[in-house]
Amino acid sequence: MPAASVLIDGPSELVFDYEIPAHMPVALGCRVRVPLRRKDATGTVLAVHATTQSSFQLREVSALIDPEPLISAQMMKLARWIATYYVAPMEQVMRALLPESVRQDMHSEKTRKVVSLMNMPEEEALAKLAKRAPKQHAILQLLHTAPEQTMALKDLGGSSVSGSIKALEKHGTVTLKNQAVRRDPDEDEEFLESKPLELNPEQSLALTAVIEQMESAKPKPILLHGVTGSGKTEVYLQAVQYALDHQQGAIILIPEISLTPQTVQRFKSRFASVQDEVAVLHSHLSQGERFDEWHRIRSGKARIVIGARSAIFAPVMNLGIIIVDEEHENTYKQETSPRYHGRDIAVLRASMEQCAIVLGSATPSLESYQNASAGKYLLIPLKLRADHQAMPIMRVIDMKLESQKQKGRIAILSDKLRVSMEKKLTNGEQVILFLNRRGFARSLQCHDCGHVCECTHCAIPLTYHRSEERLICHMCGYQSIVPKKCPECRDPAIALQGYGTQKVEEVLKKVFPSARMARIDADTMRRKHALRDTLGKFKAKKIDIIIGTQMIAKGLHFPNVTLVGVLNADLGLHVPDFRAGERTFQLLTQVAGRAGRGELEGEVIIQTFTPHSPSVQFSRHHDFEGFAQQELEFRQQFTYPPYGHCALLGTRSTHERRAQFTLENLHQRLQKDLPAQIQLGEPMPSPLTRAHDQYRFQLMLRASSARSLSNHVRAVLSQTPPPEDVHIVFDMDAIGFF
Ligand code: ADP
Ligand code: ZN
Repeated sequence: MPAASVLIDGPSELVFDYEIPAHMPVALGCRVRVPLRRKDATGTVLAVHATTQSSFQLREVSALIDPEPLISAQMMKLARWIATYYVAPMEQVMRALLPESVRQDMHSEKTRKVVSLMNMPEEEALAKLAKRAPKQHAILQLLHTAPEQTMALKDLGGSSVSGSIKALEKHGTVTLKNQAVRRDPDEDEEFLESKPLELNPEQSLALTAVIEQMESAKPKPILLHGVTGSGKTEVYLQAVQYALDHQQGAIILIPEISLTPQTVQRFKSRFASVQDEVAVLHSHLSQGERFDEWHRIRSGKARIVIGARSAIFAPVMNLGIIIVDEEHENTYKQETSPRYHGRDIAVLRASMEQCAIVLGSATPSLESYQNASAGKYLLIPLKLRADHQAMPIMRVIDMKLESQKQKGRIAILSDKLRVSMEKKLTNGEQVILFLNRRGFARSLQCHDCGHVCECTHCAIPLTYHRSEERLICHMCGYQSIVPKKCPECRDPAIALQGYGTQKVEEVLKKVFPSARMARIDADTMRRKHALRDTLGKFKAKKIDIIIGTQMIAKGLHFPNVTLVGVLNADLGLHVPDFRAGERTFQLLTQVAGRAGRGELEGEVIIQTFTPHSPSVQFSRHHDFEGFAQQELEFRQQFTYPPYGHCALLGTRSTHERRAQFTLENLHQRLQKDLPAQIQLGEPMPSPLTRAHDQYRFQLMLRASSARSLSNHVRAVLSQTPPPEDVHIVFDMDAIGFF
């Protein structure tokens, strides 16, 4: 008898074998109902065996939930890879792969009642009917002229005509049926079709290269490195059109739908004539909408899928191309288990399905850039702005000098920025002020000489821990006392960095009492539609100055903004994260892309305590290659990614001691038989020591081989079940260290 290995739904990660009853087409990737002890359970078929190996009698699969496998063999392979690489339970990977509504098949299709005309009576009979039953006659007249001679019952009058319909049905004149209707999330939106633009020479070359890979039997990933406004999106659109023309599907990943509505709209408009071919997957879909969209994709009705990272699991058949827009964005990393990186999974899926993949960015991640430099990816540059706008002028202000001028106070606004703001506001132009805020990690910086206390072993800033009055390195665990004076220049001006948007607003209100301003940060944007409303007002010029955090760095297009001020470029630089420099460079480049989007020339003013840092200098000169080269040297020296893998192991618990003890215990076990190429850090409190009432501890692991790192951690974790009230987090290729 053939048997199936079934992964039972639920946190326990149980796998049992069941006999497959005759005539039940159970296959790999099917969802099934099975008996489990005295209950019923649901699960996913992980494997099918021709004969049972078990010596005792197996119980039978009780039912197939879906007639066909929901997960293809290829997606199953991808799932296994994710579970192994990220050390995640397979059951959690399955949950990431299939939306809950699809897994449970709980939202069967939405239907409506429709009436169809079957036999139109002869004229004579009709005339009689008109006299005898005018209602029935009217219904037939309506149906006769309706498309496909079918109408919704509701449109015929609903329950008020049900008697007449019943009578007509009895004579076989009409039929009443249930028809599936799609729950369309964008039902009330209209998209005007946009025509393809004529590509400029750079774009043409890029598209040709993409198509070449789409036609290749063994396509190479493409890194499309195009400056902001170079027209990458137009290249994506035309590549997707090519896929459609060749009966292929496409997946377009974007970092976050709510922050990039313009990209979605551009796709919807371009493919407006084949509107049903486009499925947009985002977090605001209802369960029912998600169910419908998933099945529309699965059945091949929708061949273009746009969505955030989880859209990489969309069941698109015959994939022609995957596009990852803004591939450097951190939002592609999933923050709960399975902690996969959407871009990396996209590259993997493309290679499994042998389809083309384009990673696009103005500031590629160093991982992708290194892959391109090493010849694994094709690098295609777009160096010119498609809209012929000039890059904005960038000025760098040394805040150490400002700080000396404004002795005793935190310098928030430099003289240069203030004067420039005055000028723009007088001209009726708009200003964006950008405050670089990175959470809770606080470093010490001298406001006189700019010195930042760093770990000599790891070259990252030390993090201040108030409870211990210590500076701690979050890579290796090195600790030092908190200096009272700057170790470099002996000035007592050394202080914790940081202030918030509220503080900035206070200062601005004094300096520009009549300016209209708004704050955009996580606090002020909590209300639904708050971001949209504020940006709407800004567009309508009802606001002069926007003060915002990272939230406003991306994708916004305001022609009347002629000045962007970055208040504290440093804050992002001095966090305990080796990617800090890269992030700051990306952010400054993106922010600069917000200035001068219209006819007016743009200006960017960057305030910093470290004006000579590479992130500041290279972004100022729009020099990505220069930055990448220098940053890669630094990464290589310390074997940081892309020259090695970095992972974080953490514990969380409401019991501080138990969280700490569990991690120390894991640390000891990891140390035993530690493969030579793995570097194991010390356990320590996380920079965010406590969140949601949970104490957090963590340690870092580094290794040149990801596989040996995953394997070692998996082995230790499986032998060391944590106490019930301690939660363990393992983040392979972690991108944030908090
Ligand atoms: P990116 O995605 O690289 O930031 P966009 O695709 O947003 O750039 O393009 C920037 C602007 O240039 C858009 O307004 C777009 O309509 C325009 N554009 C793109 N390609 C062309 C082209 N070939 N001809 C004219 N305008 C173009
Ligand atoms: Zn260190």
